[in-house]
Amino acid sequence: MNDLRYNFTRLFDGRTGLDTLSKTTAKIGLILFLLTMLTHSNIVYVLALIFAAYTAWRVLSRNYQKRYSENQKFLSMTSGIRRRYNTFAFDVRNCITKARQRKSYVVFKCPNCKQKHRAPRGRGKIQVKCRNCRTLFIKKV
Ligand SMILES: [Zn+2]
Repeated sequence: MNDLRYNFTRLFDGRTGLDTLSKTTAKIGLILFLLTMLTHSNIVYVLALIFAAYTAWRVLSRNYQKRYSENQKFLSMTSGIRRRYNTFAFDVRNCITKARQRKSYVVFKCPNCKQKHRAPRGRGKIQVKCRNCRTLFIKKV
């Protein structure tokens, strides 16, 4: 087992490994393989194989300098898209979290300063002390 791990580590010695470009081509390849299963299209299948082979070739490549500059080029070419995607992914996560909170929490405003508060749903009448203006008020949750 240790031998196997050793050999596995050795395999990647001095190789490029998974950089962002390889991760992206790997994901595209995977999506294309899934599409192949859905569409049974030969063209999609060949494209999937090309992406898979290209990814494997880049990961195992010993010309680290060249792969590195390819990756840098890819990063600068796609920085706009990746930033937009990250913002989008963040918004989606934010939305899901908020929806989940709405389910188990009640959000209400302080009657005095409009500071937002939240409390677990189903507690009945609770006394709330506003953390902003220190007003005490009763809220049914
Ligand atoms: Zn307040």
